Parts: sequence; C-alpha cells; structure tokens
Amino acid sequence: PRAPPGRLDPSVDTEYIRSMAKYDYDFFVIGAGSAGVRAARMAAGFGARTGICEDKRLGGTCVNVGCVPKKLLVYGAGYAADFQDAAGYGWTVGETSFNWGTLIANKDEQIARLNGVYERLLEGVGVQILRGRGVLVDAHTVSVAGEQVTAEHILIATGGQPNDPDIPGGELVMNSDAVFALPELPQSVIVLGGGYIGVEFAGIFHGLGAHVTQLYRGSLFLRGFDDDVRHHLADELRRSGVDLRFDTNITCVERIEGGFRATLTDHTTLDADLVFGAIGRRPNTSHLGLAAAGVECDDRGAVIVDHDMRTNVPSIYACGDVINRIQLTPVALAEGMMLARNLFGGFDYRISYEDIPSAVFSNPNIATVGLTEKQARDRLDEVTIFRSSFRPMKHTMTGRREKMLMKVIVDARPDRVVGCHMVGSEAGEIIQGLAVALQCRATKAQFDATIGIHPTAAEEFVTMRTPVSDA
Ligand code: NDP
Repeated sequence: PRAPPGRLDPSVDTEYIRSMAKYDYDFFVIGAGSAGVRAARMAAGFGARTGICEDKRLGGTCVNVGCVPKKLLVYGAGYAADFQDAAGYGWTVGETSFNWGTLIANKDEQIARLNGVYERLLEGVGVQILRGRGVLVDAHTVSVAGEQVTAEHILIATGGQPNDPDIPGGELVMNSDAVFALPELPQSVIVLGGGYIGVEFAGIFHGLGAHVTQLYRGSLFLRGFDDDVRHHLADELRRSGVDLRFDTNITCVERIEGGFRATLTDHTTLDADLVFGAIGRRPNTSHLGLAAAGVECDDRGAVIVDHDMRTNVPSIYACGDVINRIQLTPVALAEGMMLARNLFGGFDYRISYEDIPSAVFSNPNIATVGLTEKQARDRLDEVTIFRSSFRPMKHTMTGRREKMLMKVIVDARPDRVVGCHMVGSEAGEIIQGLAVALQCRATKAQFDATIGIHPTAAEEFVTMRTPVSDA
C-alpha cells in the first residue's frame, strides 16, 4: 500500500495544506452503522479528514435492532432447553421462572455500552461525529441538522428498514425495529415470513415459552437455502412445538380484546397476543436528497454502485444494506473497508461476493457456505453429495430427539468442495472454519485427510466417506 500524501515527509506542513483544502472534509459518511463506521474509522486512520452523521444511536441496525440484541435474546431463549436437558445428567434444576423485563434491561445495557464503544472508536481516530440526519444537497455537500458540510468524497451508508405488510391492518403487525422494546413477553405470537428474521424470532418466542404459529406464503420456507436444510429445520421446528404452516398468508389483521386477529388466505382466523412480521427489508433512500445530487437508484430503491462502490456521481459512494446486495453485517464491513482502503490507503482491490458464509440463529441454528445442492447441479457437470443426519452425543442422555444435519457438496471434476451446510447447535461456529477451507479451494480429498477432533459434532464434516447420490 502507498502511504497517504503528506505522511512520509515530516517537513510537509499538513496544517497549512488543510487550511487550503477545498472541502470541509476529505470524506463524509451519512449513517453510522456497520458500513459507515468501518469506512469512517479506516479513512481517518489513513489520515483523511473524516466526518460522520447519524440521527439515531451509533452502530446502526446490527448493534441496535439486529444481530447483537437478537443473539442476546437467542441466548436467553436457549436456557429453557438447557434446564430440561440437565435432568438427564443428574441435575435437579427446580422451579424456574423467566422475567422478560430483566432480559430486555440487561440487553439494553449491553447495547448502550456498544453505542459508547462506537463513539469512542470514532472519536479516538479523529472522526467528527455530527448528530442529525444527513441529506445530500449536491455532489459534494451534505446538510446535517441545518448545517451544510462539504466533502471531496461522500459515502451513503444509511442501511435499510423492515418492510411492513401491505394489507388492511398492516400497521398492527410489529416489525423487528419495534420488537426489541416489547414491554411484555406475549403468550402467543403469529410470525409472518419464512426468512432469517422469521425463523430466528419463532425460536426466540417459542424458547421463552410463547405459543408460536409461523406462516410462510410458499411451499417451503427459507428460500435460497439448501433444500435438505429447509426440510430439516421445518421438521425440527414442528417437533419442538412450533405450529409451522406453509402455503398461507395473512390477508388482514384487526385488533381484538387483549390481542390481534389475523385472517389467513383460506379465510380462517388466528388470534394471538402479537403478530410479528419479518417480510424482508428495504434500503433507506427516501428523503436523502438523492435526486438533488443526481444519484441513481434501482427500481427497489437501492443505490446503484459499481464494483468500487461508486454511484453514477463520481464523488458519491454507497455501501451496506442501502445498496441491497447482500444484507449481512460482515459484507457491509468488507465493503466499507475496501472503499476506505482504496480511496485513502493506496490499495486497489475488490471484495469477492463468492462463498459468503452465513448463519441463521434459529433453534437449532443453520449455517451455510457455498453452493446449495441445486445450485451445484445447475452449474456443474458432476456433483457428489455427502450428507449425515444424526443425534448429537449430548442428547443421548437428555432424551431430546433433536437431530443435526451436515452436508457437503463436491464438484467431482475436478475434486473441489463447493458447499457446506449444517443445521444444529453452534452451526455458525463450525461453518466459519469451513468457509476458510472453501476460500482455499479445498478438495474433498483434503477434507478426508483432515484428522477429526473427537468427540465433536464437527468431526462429521471430515469423516463423511460415502456419497448419498450422484448426478
Ligand atoms: P428475508 O428476505 O430473509 O425473508 C423474508 C420472508 O418474508 C420470506 O420468507 C418471504 O417470502 C416473505 N415475504 C416477503 N414479502 C412477503 C409478503 N408480502 N407477505 C408474506 N410474506 C412475505 O427477510 P427478513 O426480513 O427475514 O430479513 C432481512 C434480511 O436481513 C435477510 O435476508 C438477511 O440478509 C438479513 N438478516 C441476517 C441475519 C443473519 O445473518 N443471521 C439475521 C436477520 C436478518 P419469499 O421467500 O416467498 O419471498
């Protein structure tokens, strides 16, 4: 990497240069979420005069109403099963009770701590934080809370927000922005949507003791995941007591005494304390001044960028959920980091969107990297599938009937592992390591040559020897 201008030669009067600068900032970021904070911190670290504006709490969706609080609730919900499972190992747990208020207060405390960490990280590296909503005025100007600031480069990192169902009573359906502040744990919940957030919250509410009915409009939820994974999770959810219904949708929601009534596509009704909707997210691009600056969006409202994250306006960039490529925090971080490095660090590279691992913190967890069986069969000449479904050792003594699924997809010519999928406890922890193997273009022969760690569930990934089927 090239050193930033002015950094190599200590005799250069950077203060003088700065006083002559054409713009207030070298880099100004709208939105302090995963992409924006990472880009701002890195840019400032390279010596760029950087500002960032945010009208909500620092950290964006992930920290405040997404990954972090969700995972804390998932941990909280997991204890119910742990208490039950302990009996098989000789423990008498005694009477247990759960207090939603305690969980939410402790979760809020952690989020507030992280908000502070983000603030200190930004200020520590010299990023100026402007509190207020940023609106583009032109290609180099942003208005924040009535003040105008100018910048040589501007990054739009405004993220996204949940879609709400466009049905009568749709405003009564709670989305994931609001659910983290629910004052009480509902006794019964209807979950609408069969994607990441739907299955995660079905698991959270069910684990905490609510009766959960999850509705999905298609014939099998988790579209885009491997079919075996989708079937396996459906079986597990049903076995655990979630009322999972496919080929159904809500046509209207009304308030009834003490709760809500949802009318379904087959005209039957369901009553519950809460109707929770997780039907996808849309980019935050309205009221952002995009038209004033001439920035183009696609028909779904996402900012259009090239492989350098640059919009059609050369001084304006966009990263993260606002470009609606892959709505995952680590992808937003990678995009923000690439932009800062390429603009100010002397780097010149593009991130790869291939083989991005992800986990769904359903109960049990899903994790996946690479191609599904269907994708592999569509794209490759000869595919070999290895699959194993088994009862984890822990549950031989708990009596729990939960099963794990592991699946390896191999391009047989030439030998290369192109996909790994798992349903089971700690799936994300296991698949993260296998994602490295896929980045290294590991072969099945190398998986086979890898010695397992015994006794673990993960060793199954290196001991599956017999293919289940051939193309
Ligand atoms: P998803 O896109 O994952 O799922 C949306 C679900 O809602 C799908 O089942 C979809 O059905 C259904 N749906 C869409 N529109 C309607 C409608 N009008 N009526 C009924 N159902 C509808 O979105 P989520 O909201 O669950 O999550 C948003 C994104 O956030 C995820 O895609 C993911 O990228 C990210 N995320 C990641 C997490 C993680 O990494 N663990 C956790 C949470 C979120 P269909 O499939 O038929 O379109």
